[in-house]
Amino acid sequence: MDGCMRRVCPCLVKLWDRGKKDVPAGDDPGEGEVVAPPRKTPPLPPAKEKGSIYVALWAFEARHEEELSFETGDMFNVLSRDGDWWKARKIDTNGRVLGTGFVPNNYLERADVSVESVGFFCRWYFGTMNRFEAQENLMSPDNDNGAFLIRESDRDTVGYVLSVKSSTRVKHFKVMKDDSEQFHIEPSPHFSTLLDLVEHYSNYSLSGVGRLGKPCKRKKPEPTDLNHLIKDEWELPKEEFSLEEELGSGFFAEVYRGRWKSNINVAIKIIKNSELNHQEFVREVEMLKRLRHRHLISLFAVCTESPPYYIVTELMEKGSLLQFLRGPEGQHQDIVSLVDMGAQVADGMSYLEENNCIHRDLAARNVLVGEGYICKVADFGLGRIIKEPFYVSEDKKIPYKWSAPEAISHGKFSSKSDVWSFGVLLYEIITFGGNPYPGFTLKEVFEQVKDGYRMPCPTKCPEFLYKIMMECWSAEPENRPTFKLLKDRMDTCITPYEDNN
Ligand code: ADP
Repeated sequence: MDGCMRRVCPCLVKLWDRGKKDVPAGDDPGEGEVVAPPRKTPPLPPAKEKGSIYVALWAFEARHEEELSFETGDMFNVLSRDGDWWKARKIDTNGRVLGTGFVPNNYLERADVSVESVGFFCRWYFGTMNRFEAQENLMSPDNDNGAFLIRESDRDTVGYVLSVKSSTRVKHFKVMKDDSEQFHIEPSPHFSTLLDLVEHYSNYSLSGVGRLGKPCKRKKPEPTDLNHLIKDEWELPKEEFSLEEELGSGFFAEVYRGRWKSNINVAIKIIKNSELNHQEFVREVEMLKRLRHRHLISLFAVCTESPPYYIVTELMEKGSLLQFLRGPEGQHQDIVSLVDMGAQVADGMSYLEENNCIHRDLAARNVLVGEGYICKVADFGLGRIIKEPFYVSEDKKIPYKWSAPEAISHGKFSSKSDVWSFGVLLYEIITFGGNPYPGFTLKEVFEQVKDGYRMPCPTKCPEFLYKIMMECWSAEPENRPTFKLLKDRMDTCITPYEDNN
C-alpha cells in the first residue's frame, strides 16, 4: 500500500511517513499496515492501537451471528484478511472494542486514504476493479458527465486505467508508463504521478471526453460471497434451507433461489438422479471445496443425508450467461465487453486446468453472471458422476455441439476437450446466445466435425476471435491452446480501451 500511495498520491507520503513514525517502538505495524495520520475530528484511537484503521463507507446489516453490523463512518481494526470478508473489530474513537466479526472488505476504506484524512485527491482512486464494476459505478445517476475514476485493472498485463463517464457510456483509457516510469494517456504530455495526470486533464481536454469532472461516487456493493461462513463442516441439514422460486431446470437438476437460516441468499441445486454413489459424491465434493477462484462459483454446502441431494452455491443474480446474452442486457454489450466475458471464463478455466480439474460440460448455459457482469464458471467437477451415467443411457443428453470429437467417440475428456468447448462458448458469446451449428442435427454435427467441418466466422466477429475459436477446434487435442495461453491472449489481443496510443 505504501508503494501504491507513492505512485498514486506522492504528496501524501509525508503525511503517511509521519503517521508511521508515531508508532511507538516495539509496536511496529506489520507489512502493509499503517497507522492513520493525526487529524482533528473524529479523533483516532491511540497510536499504540496495532494495525490499520478502516472506516465504513456504507451501513451493513449482519445476516449471520458471525458477521458484524455497522453504520456509515464506524471504525475498524482488521484482525485477518481472507478473501472478500475480513475479520475485524469495531472500535469507538477511544479505541474501545464494540464488537468483533466478519465484514465485507469492499464496504471499508482505510482511514489513511479516506476522504476526510487526505482531502479530495484520492476520492478518484478505486483500487482493483474490472471495467464492468467501473461502468456500474460511473453510470449511476449520482454521477454527471465527466465523472471519473482511476482503477487498477484486474488483468495482470494492464495496470492503471482511467474510466470516464461520457454521455451514455463509459470510456476507458489505459494509463501507460514510459521508460522513465512516467505516466501518460496520449503520446504527450507525461506525468510523474497519477495526481498530476488527473490535475492536468481536469484543466485540459482529453480526446473524446473533454475535461474530467468530479470523482465518481461509489455505488454500494452487494455482499454475496459466502466463503467466510464456510467451515470444515460442509454437510448441512436440509432443514436449514428454505426454497423460494425456481431459477431454472435442466436434465440433471432443478435450481432454486433459497435462503440459509432464513436470511442468507443462496442457490440450491436439487439433483434429479437419486441413485448417486454417496461415497463417490462426497469424495468429489471434498475436492471441489478446495477450488476457489474469482471466476468459479463457490460451493457453500451439500445436503446428502437423504436423496434428492442438494448442492448449495452462491447465488448469481443475472442467471446463466446464455439467458443473459439473449436478454435485453446482453444485447447492449459491445464487442469489448463480450470479449471480456470470454476472458473471465478463460481465467476461471485456467485455474481448473492448473488444478487438473476437467469440466466436461463447458457452455454458456453453465456460466453464471452476477453483479458487475462478473462471469463465473459453474457445474465443474461433479459432471462426471452426475451427468455421465445419463450420457451412457440416453444419447440425446450428450452435449454434442459442445463436445470435442475424441470426447464423444472415445470418452476422452481432458482440459483440451474443455478448450474445444470453450471455442463453442466463444461462438455463443459473439452471436449473443446463438445456437451453434444452426440447421444441423446432433448426429450431423458429430459426423461433419469429424470430417473436418468447422463453423464459419459469425457476422461481426472480429478476426482475432475467430482465429482463437479455430485453434480451439484443432482436430488434435495437443494442437489446441491451453487455457492459460487463451487467458493471456484474450487479455491482450484486444485493447479494451479508447484509442489512446
Ligand atoms: P443442469 O446442469 O441440470 O442443466 P444448471 O446447473 O444448468 O442445471 O441450472 C439450470 C439453470 O438454473 C441455469 O441455467 C441458471 O439459470 C439457473 N442457475 C443455476 N445455478 C445458479 C446460481 N448459482 N445462481 C443463479 N441461477 C442459477
